[in-house]
Amino acid sequence: MQRAEYDIVIVGSGPGGGTLAYGLRNSGAHILLIERGDFLPQEPENWSAAAIFSEGRYRTADRWQDNRGRSFQPGVHYFVGGNTKFFGAALPRFRPRDFEATEHANGISPGWPISYAELAPYYRQAEIIYVVHGEDDDPWFPRGEPFPYPAVPHEPAIQRLTARLRAAGYTPSTLPLGIDLGPAGRCIRCATCDGFPCRVLAKADAEVCCVRPALQHSNIELLVRTYARRILTDASGKRAVALEVVRNGEVSSIKAGVVVVSCGAVNSAALLLRSANSKHAKGLANGSDMVGRHYMVHNNSLMMTLNPFDPDAEPVTFQKTFYINDYYSKGTTDHPYPLGQIQMIGKIQAEMLAAYARFMPRVGLRYFAKRSVDWWLFSEDLPDPANRVTLTSSNTVQLRWRPNNLRAHAVLTREASRMATTVGYPLVFTRRTGIAFNSHQSGTVRAGTDPAISVLDPSCRAHEIENLFVVDSSFFPSLPPMNPVLTIAANALRVAESLSKQ
Ligand SMILES: Cc1cc2nc3c(=O)[nH]c(=O)nc-3n(C[C@H](O)[C@H](O)[C@H](O)COP(=O)(O)OP(=O)(O)OC[C@H]3O[C@@H](n4cnc5c(N)ncnc54)[C@H](O)[C@@H]3O)c2cc1C
Repeated sequence: MQRAEYDIVIVGSGPGGGTLAYGLRNSGAHILLIERGDFLPQEPENWSAAAIFSEGRYRTADRWQDNRGRSFQPGVHYFVGGNTKFFGAALPRFRPRDFEATEHANGISPGWPISYAELAPYYRQAEIIYVVHGEDDDPWFPRGEPFPYPAVPHEPAIQRLTARLRAAGYTPSTLPLGIDLGPAGRCIRCATCDGFPCRVLAKADAEVCCVRPALQHSNIELLVRTYARRILTDASGKRAVALEVVRNGEVSSIKAGVVVVSCGAVNSAALLLRSANSKHAKGLANGSDMVGRHYMVHNNSLMMTLNPFDPDAEPVTFQKTFYINDYYSKGTTDHPYPLGQIQMIGKIQAEMLAAYARFMPRVGLRYFAKRSVDWWLFSEDLPDPANRVTLTSSNTVQLRWRPNNLRAHAVLTREASRMATTVGYPLVFTRRTGIAFNSHQSGTVRAGTDPAISVLDPSCRAHEIENLFVVDSSFFPSLPPMNPVLTIAANALRVAESLSKQ
């Protein structure tokens, strides 16, 4: 550390904190980025399904507790770049209507305190920073502007699948992807992208696109292997003054003019709760008792489809190049509400399946994985105050979670299975994810205009603490069924602009 005090201290280097640091690179402010993890090493295990899915080489060893106090290992990763080191690089925008209230069978998905139009210029910047490749071909969301980079082409088998889908009346469209493709690009279109770190750094993760470029600027520093334990305030409780951190087992404090929290939705809430003091008895900025509540994560299912009777089924490598939004805003006659999204995912490998099908012999798993086409189905879950992050007496994270709006997901799964059968896959297997699947966690430090029911104002500043901001997906008031990273990054750029002006 070069200084005793920083203008801005950012906790967490994922797409929230990392993009914010990058957005502030020319602000003149002295910025310190604190990250509990280290740089992820480039090593052969990056592309080993066994190392990642069987041995959990990169997953945190942290344990959290569920509703009943049962311990589980969450699906999160602590590295520079956060969980984008493992993400599938799908980088779509949320739709304009996602920022407005939407009716579901089980309640209302609330509107946001900012509009799509306000975020649009930052979406554009984020798409450039995260090298988004795409095509304006989604009939459900005509953008009216090109992507910064051309669409990632489909493999022949996927091209034929999209043709069959169109013939059957579905509308697959190009999935916006952040990969370094092209004549001078580093991407080799391997099967180890979604769920794996990129060994050749061709994936547009927050480390590659934001943290490393930000560190080229002398006003930005990064402290790795440093755990932010508490945020300290002044005697009035109205200003944050320092971070209490643990590094190599030693506790110290770092003075900050502005504190920005971006630890991922569960850990950001936990940090605020751990920071309770005499002025903030229930946790920092938690006079409303909203910190930790409204945890959302999507209702997610893996769908594997297979045609065992097609001897010529062509194996696919990089299959994640389209998505289907036909059910994004509409439902069916028996469930006339939004159902969600059908998206291709990275190619499933036998070792990944082992966790789901423990008793199936590897040879069977290999046969299956080699020939399957794999999809991700996700539906909106609604912000329920009872779905919340709390701390146990020993400061362990407890995640109380009861999934809701499940009928929408069941109907989506049914419709997606029908679709798969119609386009030539008689065998369809689906599996819903459980509490340890935390990829799209959000909502726990929600933004809003009313301090009684939100923690942050529309600029992501805490209502109760004038120099405390939260910029990860915690601020989401709802979680539309779309991948969240581009929205996290765009919002971080929006906050960076307003902090630069201060
Ligand atoms: C396998 C997988 C695939 C995914 N695919 C996609 C996809 O294709 N598209 C998409 O949009 N999203 C995808 N996601 C989700 C996406 O990665 C997350 O939404 C995103 O990373 C969240 O960003 P964040 O900044 O909120 O938090 P994170 O990325 O979780 O970053 C938080 C950072 O804070 C650090 N931290 C936490 N607590 C502390 C502390 N107390 N002190 C210091 N540092 C701390 C962590 O180590 C971490 O680096 C995927 C996720 C996974 C796991």
